[in-house]
Amino acid sequence: MTDTSPGGDVSTRRAQMFPTLSASQIARIARVGNERALAAGELLFDEGDRDVPMHVVLEGRVSIVHPRDGQEDPITVHGPGEFTGEASMLADRPALVRGRATTAGRVLEVPRAVLKSLVQIDPELSEILLRAFILRRMGLLSGHHGDAVVLGSRHSAGTLRVQEFLTRNGHPYRYVDVDLDDNVQALLDAFHVAVADVPVLICRGERVLKNPSNAEVAECLGFNRAEDAGAIHDLVVVGAGPAGLAAAVYAASEGLDVVVLETSSPGGQAGSSSKIENYLGFPTGISGQALAQRALAQAEKFGAKIRIARSAVKLRCEELPYRIDTADGGCVRARAIVIATGAEYRKLDLPELPKFEGVGVYYGATYVEAQRCAADEVIVVGGGNSAGQAATFLAQSSSHVHVLVRSDGLAASMSRYLIRRIEETRNVTLHTRTRIVGLSGGEHLEQVTWIDDRAGETSVRPIRNVFSMTGAKPNTEWLHGCLELDDKGFILTGADLPPGRPGAARTTARAPLLHETSLPKVFAVGDVRANSVKRVASGVGEGSVCVQLVHRVLAE
Ligand SMILES: Cc1cc2nc3c(=O)[nH]c(=O)nc-3n(C[C@H](O)[C@H](O)[C@H](O)COP(=O)(O)OP(=O)(O)OC[C@H]3O[C@@H](n4cnc5c(N)ncnc54)[C@H](O)[C@@H]3O)c2cc1C
Repeated sequence: MTDTSPGGDVSTRRAQMFPTLSASQIARIARVGNERALAAGELLFDEGDRDVPMHVVLEGRVSIVHPRDGQEDPITVHGPGEFTGEASMLADRPALVRGRATTAGRVLEVPRAVLKSLVQIDPELSEILLRAFILRRMGLLSGHHGDAVVLGSRHSAGTLRVQEFLTRNGHPYRYVDVDLDDNVQALLDAFHVAVADVPVLICRGERVLKNPSNAEVAECLGFNRAEDAGAIHDLVVVGAGPAGLAAAVYAASEGLDVVVLETSSPGGQAGSSSKIENYLGFPTGISGQALAQRALAQAEKFGAKIRIARSAVKLRCEELPYRIDTADGGCVRARAIVIATGAEYRKLDLPELPKFEGVGVYYGATYVEAQRCAADEVIVVGGGNSAGQAATFLAQSSSHVHVLVRSDGLAASMSRYLIRRIEETRNVTLHTRTRIVGLSGGEHLEQVTWIDDRAGETSVRPIRNVFSMTGAKPNTEWLHGCLELDDKGFILTGADLPPGRPGAARTTARAPLLHETSLPKVFAVGDVRANSVKRVASGVGEGSVCVQLVHRVLAE
């Protein structure tokens, strides 16, 4: 595996990825693990296995391989003092690789549940193991050592959706483009699919899904465990953006039984950012994807149960404990709720828009979308920080970036450091008081018409890629009249709630707490909350702080 971290020293990274534990560290693991002998050639675990224990090698060697097309791609060989495992171990997901004893030997076997408690109580081992697990996952991602193959096309919006879903969930996969790969026909024949079926997902070389929904992808790859339908949890967090993940980390670390429901992938809007540069502690910036993966690992380390591609569709506020219905037909019950469903971009008001979403119109500007544009000219619509980041990121690969805003300039909406970057980047042009009025093309966007409102001039440009990053619409439709919202649909909380209009289920005499909604024991944090500061740091702050108040209401 190669070093994938920006600026990381290769030998240091390798040592962190495959560290050798000291005698005292092994002794601490021996207190909770089971020592056992290995026969040469013994299979310890296979791709797709669940509940795989961690193995610390005491004697002999254990090889880690990626099974692929009947062969085994070697990944590494663990010697004495080294240990097996990667991020799926803490995430409670199936193993992505195969482990086999290459010689006779002895190992310490640490069951998954024991490992989870070990990383919670032993900070030194926690740091070594978690860092290795995260770096190994990065290595699997960069080496495309996964249990998934995606057959797709650049001309298919569904392909982009599946790629984004896998990428943002940190799941390694091999991509085969049916338009570009010379050997694709053999693969199509082997799995009885046609070019017209793309995107096709092949899970572990066994199951074949044609144009699967995100929930079907999650099910096929084992992202979620079956839910205990009768359970009443202390807390359900809805939304795994920065605010929801922060709430999950604090709640789980403080011993609450917490379930997180997430429609798509952890990270929320921040996960679609190429680089966040103003979040405290990351002076050189961090990609939204990396921040999300770290936060996810942290939440899982403390025992939060994260449910991917599981949307909340209705809050049953008339029932106590509260019940949340989910899109898969199930439900989750809890004594308290933190709503962290954030916001999403408003869509361009153009009749042709749906035809080009995913095939020319994009709502995220990360590596996945940038790959589709190659060196083409692109348009970024919007004047906020997300648009500024997108413009400077895309300028690195595109021949030219046009930034279109309706206002007279960026000063009122974008951070100064991004405005300066845009001004100083040779291939970025700002078009003020300009808006898109037409999109046209065949299977893919081919032409954009915009109007300069100041000059009253219309331009038709042969541009195939538009990044739409305007406004914010709160994700509150699923609340169905349960909570007090402001006139834009954001959730009112605490002192912002109109006096004398308590929610239907408010039976307590006390005033709503900070971030508490019109329903007692239901909190709203981050971008979805009315009057919140729409930033990563404030979302993380609100998510963390509200857990103190969750404890208080649970004790009522
Ligand atoms: C491209 C981009 C770049 C940005 N850059 C920066 C930056 O550099 N610095 C900065 O401070 N801020 C930045 N921001 C803003 C920042 O990302 C947001 O303020 C922050 O993500 C808000 O966090 P949140 O958790 O409140 O909501 P979100 O990030 O919106 O997360 C909400 C989550 O809830 C999920 N969800 C929604 N509805 C449901 C449902 N019904 N059931 C289950 N799950 C649901 C969503 O899928 C999502 O994952 C950027 C935003 C974007 C889009």
